[in-house]
Amino acid sequence: MSPLIEAISGTGARVEASVPLHAHTTWRVGGPADYMAWVDSAGVLAEVLTVLHGRGVGSMVLGNGSNVLVSDRGYRGVVLRLSGELADLSVDGERVIAGGGAGLRAAVEAAAKAGLTGLEFAFGIPGTVGGAVMTNAGAFSSSVSECLLSVRTLAAGESRTRERFEAGYREALVPNGEVVVATVFALARDSAAGVRARMAERASARRASQPGGATAGSVFKNPEGDHAGRLIDLCGLKGRREGGARISEVHANFIVNDGSASASDIRTLMLLAAEEVFQRFGVRLEPEVSLVGFEGLETEWWD
Ligand SMILES: Cc1cc2nc3c(=O)[nH]c(=O)nc-3n(C[C@H](O)[C@H](O)[C@H](O)COP(=O)(O)OP(=O)(O)OC[C@H]3O[C@@H](n4cnc5c(N)ncnc54)[C@H](O)[C@@H]3O)c2cc1C
Repeated sequence: MSPLIEAISGTGARVEASVPLHAHTTWRVGGPADYMAWVDSAGVLAEVLTVLHGRGVGSMVLGNGSNVLVSDRGYRGVVLRLSGELADLSVDGERVIAGGGAGLRAAVEAAAKAGLTGLEFAFGIPGTVGGAVMTNAGAFSSSVSECLLSVRTLAAGESRTRERFEAGYREALVPNGEVVVATVFALARDSAAGVRARMAERASARRASQPGGATAGSVFKNPEGDHAGRLIDLCGLKGRREGGARISEVHANFIVNDGSASASDIRTLMLLAAEEVFQRFGVRLEPEVSLVGFEGLETEWWD
């Protein structure tokens, strides 16, 4: 057993070496992570972070992998997954209390069951609560920051609770490098039927405007006052293919993996769309997805 695996296992975390990340991302692409560690309590997480910090080993949290493009080379370091009490969910009065690893869908469902309104916009966003905090996930003109009361994070050796957020469009609500372990959402009373009706409306709006299949949702952020999908569409790129990846005919800001795409195919289409939109409209599209493991590859746009 490698000394690193031994040290991580010693904290109580479960750890595996050389884990293919395509199995853990909604785009279904990505090479191996050196290690993946499942942590099921804040105590274990704190110990794991201390071990990694002490050894100078890099780490990142992967939620549901629905907003990341992991390179074909994968990730050099430890990918952390939150489980157990870090994925717990409960309702207390008008508050939903969720671990960073809890599913956003489960949080929306719990709110609906309790007759609480405020999270319906997030129905259909296939991420975790932690991922939603790190992207200020949003839809239908609302975003997570609007109903987030507090966030508890852990970084090497330090626990913090924040109640004020600099809320930007698809910008992390807490500093990168901190792990979102717990959140509290402040919602309002409504009838469960009313909440469910709005969830159903949101779901059908998504079905009508988005492709199914292996995607990561919107690839680029919308530029101020416009839509990335509209600009990419105007460049005539709907349906453009690279290997097993394709710019969706349904929504030009989605790239679909037809089953055999590599991360490189997807990145090639991203660069093409960004280049053409810039040439034609002078607008620099910024990725909404996080690019993981691309360090050292020449990228003209985002590095
Ligand atoms: C079909 C589809 C539809 C989508 N629709 C929307 C939409 O309407 N609106 C929207 O905003 N997004 C949408 N997305 C994108 C995505 O679902 C959201 O960004 C989601 O919030 C990401 O959560 P995740 O758990 O999958 O994060 P991941 O993709 O796993 O991670 C995203 C980033 O957050 C970090 N992270 C994850 N968890 C933690 C944590 N606990 N602590 C610290 N950092 C963490 C990761 O390191 C990474 O940098 C869609 C995606 C798909 C596939």
